[in-house]
Amino acid sequence: MCSINEENLLADTMVATPTLPFKDAVCRKCRIVKAQVLLRKTDPYCRDCFMKYAVHKFRSTLGKARALQHNEHVLLAYSGGLSSGSMIHLIKQGLEASDSNKMKLVIKPSLLHIDEGGILNLPKEERKASADFILEYAKRNCLDVYICSLEYSLAADISGVKLQKNSYEVEPSVYANQLEQLFGSVKSLTAKEDLLLRLKQRLITLLATHLNYPKVFLGPNATRLAGQLLSAVGQGRGAQIAQEIGFADSRTGVVFLRPMREFVDKEVAYLANFLEVDSLCLPTLSSKLGPTASIGRLTEEFVVTLQANFPATISTLFRTSDKLKSNVGVDRSSSEIKDDSRCLLCLSAIEESTLCSASTARSISQTISRSGPSGLNDLESEPYSTNAQQQSAACNANCSNPEKQCCKTMDAGTMKDWSVVLCYGCRVTMEDVKTPELVPINLREELRLRSRRQMMRQSVEQFLL
Ligand SMILES: [Zn+2]
Ligand SMILES: [Zn+2]
Repeated sequence: MCSINEENLLADTMVATPTLPFKDAVCRKCRIVKAQVLLRKTDPYCRDCFMKYAVHKFRSTLGKARALQHNEHVLLAYSGGLSSGSMIHLIKQGLEASDSNKMKLVIKPSLLHIDEGGILNLPKEERKASADFILEYAKRNCLDVYICSLEYSLAADISGVKLQKNSYEVEPSVYANQLEQLFGSVKSLTAKEDLLLRLKQRLITLLATHLNYPKVFLGPNATRLAGQLLSAVGQGRGAQIAQEIGFADSRTGVVFLRPMREFVDKEVAYLANFLEVDSLCLPTLSSKLGPTASIGRLTEEFVVTLQANFPATISTLFRTSDKLKSNVGVDRSSSEIKDDSRCLLCLSAIEESTLCSASTARSISQTISRSGPSGLNDLESEPYSTNAQQQSAACNANCSNPEKQCCKTMDAGTMKDWSVVLCYGCRVTMEDVKTPELVPINLREELRLRSRRQMMRQSVEQFLL
């Protein structure tokens, strides 16, 4: 049992790390040059030693995972921000390494930028100016850049996507209205941010597969990921932490890598300054809103505030999360998880509801709070069946009544039950979306197929001993 009580915690354990007097401090590495950088409040570095430290950290993050093959095509997701900009500069340095002590990075990178201006209601001129900045940045770094608008994340397949290479024109998309309505129907900012993340992931996967890039580098840094880690727990995605926060995420078939995951905000700021990284100041969904606007904002604010006084906060969170493993689908490797039991939005394994699961407890609590004690009676009689499933459970070969909804007559437009196709976290995100027409057509088709399969399974189970 834990022997620390609250008073001890405040008096002894929660002592903020004192800041080293920085004036005239000497670099702790070479012990010669005057320090220009202060990390973790106690570690002064000169510019050269900091850059060596940062490059080594970046390269070892990539090297440790042995994720890259010789001459592999890699897509670098570039938002225009400092973190992804610094990542591209570090990769460029690695490609050009002439120092015999440094291993040269041998990959073939290209940039990818997703234009999110549509959901942020940015004027066309502003979106064009941002794209011009990205194009100019790519040109300066002698890299090809692909730009695509977020609207195309709703396309069923690549044939419906307009991808532009080394140029960009903001054009009206057939999916613009659908995307606007989809975001409009999602009420909370937490759900909107999560939906944006999933749609971006879907679009990047679609594009990377089409362009034949097996790996995609993403730019989020440690501060951002630590906030996401806590918010993932808060949103019921605890089982997905290893993929959401870890270095590699291969849920979608394309491998997403996060080489900046060891750098905190402050290190990225120094790095960007020393590497002279230009950045684009793009608004986000939570711009101009307070720290309590969404779970993501709140957890990031919490981590940043704590990190300011306790510089080990983020690394402790990371080291802890690296040890966490999900027991969802633990007996199956990721390739063995049947497509039927994968979430359509995030492609994680869907946790099966049992009598004692957290999702069942939440469902009971939600039913009671929305419909009162009478809801509990309904739940007791049929704990897992939705209305549609209850009706179809009685469906058999004789169901010729055209007015009765059954496994044969049910169409996607009438279905609002996401539980067969979405994991718990995505279900919470999509809770307010009551119109299936707003999701991509292939997801709708999958929803219909899986629902039918589940209903047939339930009706067959009635005849089994
Ligand atoms: Zn030094
Ligand atoms: Zn999901």
